[in-house]
Amino acid sequence: MKYSFFYFFSVIAILSCSASNVSVKSATKTQNPGYWQQKIDYTMNVDMDVKTYQYQGTQHLVYTNNSPDVLNRVYYHLFYNAFQPGSEMDVRSLTIADPDPRVKDRISKLAPEDQGFLKVSSLTQNGVALKYETVGTILEVTLASPIQPGEQVTFDMVFNGQVPLQIRRAGKNNKEGVALSMAQWYPKLAEYDFEGWHADPYIAREFFGVWGNFDVSITIDKTYTIGGSGYLQNPNEIGHGYTTEKVKTKGDKLTWHFVAPNVHDFTWAADPNYNHDTMQVPNGPLLHFFYKSTMPKENLENWKNVQPKVVELMQYYSTNVGNYPYEQYSVIQGGDGGMEYAMCTLIMGEGSFNGLFGVIAHEMAHTWFQFLLASNESKHEWMDEGFTSYISDLAENDILHKNSENPTKGAYRGYIYLAKSGKEQPLTTHADRYAYNQTYSISAYSKGEVFLAQLAYVIGDENLKTTIKKYFEEFKFTHPKPLDIVRTAEKVSGLELDWYLTDFGQTTNTIDYGVKTVEGNTVTLERIGLMPMPIDLTVTYTDGSTEDFYIPLRMMYGEKPTTATIIADWAWAYPTYTFTTTKPVAKVEIDPKEGMADINRENNKM
Ligand SMILES: [Zn+2]
Repeated sequence: MKYSFFYFFSVIAILSCSASNVSVKSATKTQNPGYWQQKIDYTMNVDMDVKTYQYQGTQHLVYTNNSPDVLNRVYYHLFYNAFQPGSEMDVRSLTIADPDPRVKDRISKLAPEDQGFLKVSSLTQNGVALKYETVGTILEVTLASPIQPGEQVTFDMVFNGQVPLQIRRAGKNNKEGVALSMAQWYPKLAEYDFEGWHADPYIAREFFGVWGNFDVSITIDKTYTIGGSGYLQNPNEIGHGYTTEKVKTKGDKLTWHFVAPNVHDFTWAADPNYNHDTMQVPNGPLLHFFYKSTMPKENLENWKNVQPKVVELMQYYSTNVGNYPYEQYSVIQGGDGGMEYAMCTLIMGEGSFNGLFGVIAHEMAHTWFQFLLASNESKHEWMDEGFTSYISDLAENDILHKNSENPTKGAYRGYIYLAKSGKEQPLTTHADRYAYNQTYSISAYSKGEVFLAQLAYVIGDENLKTTIKKYFEEFKFTHPKPLDIVRTAEKVSGLELDWYLTDFGQTTNTIDYGVKTVEGNTVTLERIGLMPMPIDLTVTYTDGSTEDFYIPLRMMYGEKPTTATIIADWAWAYPTYTFTTTKPVAKVEIDPKEGMADINRENNKM
């Protein structure tokens, strides 16, 4: 998801924030020894009524328990139940001090035909009927027989749903008139991992899913074009831009058959007025673009002009993070801002060219930092939004030739504003449990971005680049944890970094270093904030010459690669640090390149 940069300063902008049967060029699993994850294969058939916005579905799940535990129950998410007056999502929006303007009191006012729901009318385990209960957005299921470690079971379900009026991420008839934005639209089995079940109620925020294969058939009025996760299996029966051949169809409806291999979600959107363009990324996937033909001319031009830039984005991320492993990616007009999904994104389509490009840059980057590196977004929202914001800021700077020396500067500004506001909560806070939406946004997006950008200051630029690629290679198609990025950085740099995760990732300790005194050849610095840091320092001598110094942090037990003069290390507990130079000092500046998120820069110079 993407928030406008200006979100922090309380102006909330419109932006918010998956072949044929060819299987994914799968990862060599190099996750931590002992790591396991559940597996699920979905086969679903749904029939959509475009007049009532109701749909009937069947779901066949093959669930493999790769855990060492015996499972006595399972949970499903029923996300659309959030769009009912009195739901947790509704009440949260009515009671939080700074509600999302897209939600506000809108759920409380939904007429019955505009509410969302997902209802399960039967469920069996290996053919045996199960007891289940709907509790808000969660289906609690008591199993007929426990699932043993290593066992594979099947669940068969009959369900029906109603698409809510577009309020948040999914829904019918969004602001720009897209008929169906179908995200989180099916009963979705909750993830179970070493922490147990993740049956989080849907209160508006992030998602977490089980890796597997999706086989989805959607029957819908034949005038509608569908874009989404998965490869269309029957283009010759469908047409709609998926084949150049002429297609003759019978009846009023078409059944679209999609297969999405090795994903943890399946999303689609449909509209009778979609233009459907494609563009090939050289040695990469085929890009699909779905956007309303009824938009003003200027917007239609933006959607044409952005296509070669999206090719560049795909190349940028594939080069700088890791190879995109699917053969298709779709940019689809829909939703309520921008949100990332399997092999696709739903984004708002109007607005400026730069706005359109910026949202696509952000949402596409999520393919790496959320989709392929599928962190638990509810618990570690900063690994998802922050890392995405980091790499998309770099990509935008590069592709739009902005030539900014520091494309992450805005994130530092946002984080420092929050740190000084008194409203900061640690990054360990669950995404739904921040006191303010603004605190969530700045923490997830800006502090998360600073986490990576500042790591370059700590371990060096080249080490960070290598860390990001190694992290992707080793953890793609899994659920990495905060420690995984930090341990990767430690292995790449040879430096001890546990303190960095502890202080920046788990507390609200702040960084503040200052120059205390300069007397002749002697300089004294002080640590004012609680968070440790190594120090980059530039000294200007009275003869006008300058010298860069590097003060290692003792608890790192090493130094980053640097051309600066390395002097004695600084042990954190000592509040001051004194060193002498060879020549008389005129000026001193701590961290002149602003790599540290130092909350008070005024004391950095003397
Ligand atoms: Zn995002």
